[in-house]
Amino acid sequence: MHRRRLALGLGFCLLAGTSLSVLWVYLENWLPVSYVPYYLPCPEIFNMKLHYKREKPLQPMVWSQYPQPKLLEHRPTQLLTLTPWLAPIVSEGTFNPELLQHIYQPLNLTIGVTVFAVGKYTHFIQSFLESAEEFFMRGYRVHYYIFTDNPAAIPGIPLGPHRLLSSIPIQGHSHWEETSMRRMETISQHIAKRAHREVDYLFCLDVDMVFQNPWGPETLGDLVAAIHPSYYAVSRQQFPYERRRVSTAFVADSEGDFYYGGAVFGGQVARVYEFTRGCHMAILVDKANGIMAAWREESHLNRHFISNKPSKVLSPKYLWDDRKPQPPSLKLIRFSTLDKDISCLRS
Ligand code: UDP
Ligand code: MN
Repeated sequence: MHRRRLALGLGFCLLAGTSLSVLWVYLENWLPVSYVPYYLPCPEIFNMKLHYKREKPLQPMVWSQYPQPKLLEHRPTQLLTLTPWLAPIVSEGTFNPELLQHIYQPLNLTIGVTVFAVGKYTHFIQSFLESAEEFFMRGYRVHYYIFTDNPAAIPGIPLGPHRLLSSIPIQGHSHWEETSMRRMETISQHIAKRAHREVDYLFCLDVDMVFQNPWGPETLGDLVAAIHPSYYAVSRQQFPYERRRVSTAFVADSEGDFYYGGAVFGGQVARVYEFTRGCHMAILVDKANGIMAAWREESHLNRHFISNKPSKVLSPKYLWDDRKPQPPSLKLIRFSTLDKDISCLRS
């Protein structure tokens, strides 16, 4: 009698267990998000992967098959002023600084800037900040966010009125590539936590650069990209996009408008949030698949700007490189990379 009861009990448990697991398998497919154990690192990728998973590699979309816009197409001394999707390409002569001043000054905008100075890159903060105080958004409210693993290394630069500096401690990484790529993640989290309440527009800039001429409200837009100084005169097939189809940053030969630099991008703070989060997710998917894109986050930024077109494009004068000769069409350099000893910095 006792044994029969035990067998019955066991049978019932088995049946209940089986039905529950069948029910779970069925229900799981209908849940809006998949269940991810909390202890996994970066649980987002398990949900995101579904969006990126594809049976066939990405095919270039028909709408993107139009001739490449060329910055120097018309006359060698005059730059193209409008993209095929009608976004302005900003360089001098395309805007009236006094008029823009009259329009933007009363809006009382706050412009945020994110810069990362990790490891030896803290060395660049002084020249970056001093030049920004001289040229960047003069007369506007500015909030510099300096992400660093060594807050004590931030020099005490006197700031103009309505200009603030926050140093935000972050962890350093043993590989410089990691520091550079993680910026997308850190910026998106920082916007979500804090910057969305504090600034209207946000520019995300490299620290190894200096301002050399005024950078003003002509640069403000919903989503802003800057043309890379090394690729403004070459064909899209020569752009150093990620060309491996397994990467989420893959770009086909027939795609691409301009090759943008990873050292300058920005826009309205909410748009920069979407943008950096999207890039970060794509980086995570690549990471889960053991891939690092050809030019790290710059490859993802470029992939992203093909499908999410910038509403404003800055000419390479806003992202120059002092090591390059200056062609006649690009005389007034506004922001430029310093010559640096890469082997020492990255060792
Ligand atoms: N960076 C940093 N510490 C590092 C590597 C990079 O702070 O060890 C930051 C810094 O803001 C730098 C940016 O990441 O400007 C991009 O790196 P880098 O300028 O070396 O890349 P490049 O412009 O040469 O592609
Ligand atoms: Mn740089």
